Amino acid sequence: MIEADFEVGVLRLGHRIVRDKRVTTHAFLVSRAFGAKAFIIHGDKDSKLEENARRIVKTWGGKVTVEYSENWLETVKKWRDTGSLIVHLTMYGMPVESVINYIREFKRILVIIGGQKVPGEAYRVSDYNVSITNQPHSEIAALAVFLDRLFQGRELYMQHEKPRFFIVPSPRGKVICKNPFYKANRFE
Ligand code: SAM
Repeated sequence: MIEADFEVGVLRLGHRIVRDKRVTTHAFLVSRAFGAKAFIIHGDKDSKLEENARRIVKTWGGKVTVEYSENWLETVKKWRDTGSLIVHLTMYGMPVESVINYIREFKRILVIIGGQKVPGEAYRVSDYNVSITNQPHSEIAALAVFLDRLFQGRELYMQHEKPRFFIVPSPRGKVICKNPFYKANRFE
């Protein structure tokens, strides 16, 4: 069970309500599906996006929290003070395969992903600046690859706690089941 391995938070810097709704939502979806326990949004306060993210957790299960950070450096400090390693994903960083074994020695990890503009402090406050190739691409792709390397593929088999619905893998078409215990156990 990957839950015992690492407690991962993802800090998304510089969210802009108008332009980043979809990208930030997708970063949240990847965080949840690939095993993160906290998703923290810095930038514009976007209550609607937060609500949608929490609705996804209710529908598909899991325990990931959705939080807002008014001051991202404070958030970094809070995680560091509780023994976390700070990892910043950037095309300028060290190749993931060269540092992942050191990172895996920590049990709590805060992963910083940027947007359009990343403040210079992000490079300085981080214990590791990590690249997923040294080519520009996207925070969503970088996050997915990083989490997969961290969990060594085990996140692919993760069961998300107390879902309202779950999917039965099917070679053709869609098979979606309602969790019969959902209401009876008063999960909400
Ligand atoms: N110049 C940026 C950088 O430092 O990676 C690219 C900006 S990109 C629009 C937004 C975010 O995607 C970055 O802040 C970073 O978190 C992530 N990103 C893009 N390419 C990456 C790469 N090759 N490795 C790691 N992260 C990357």
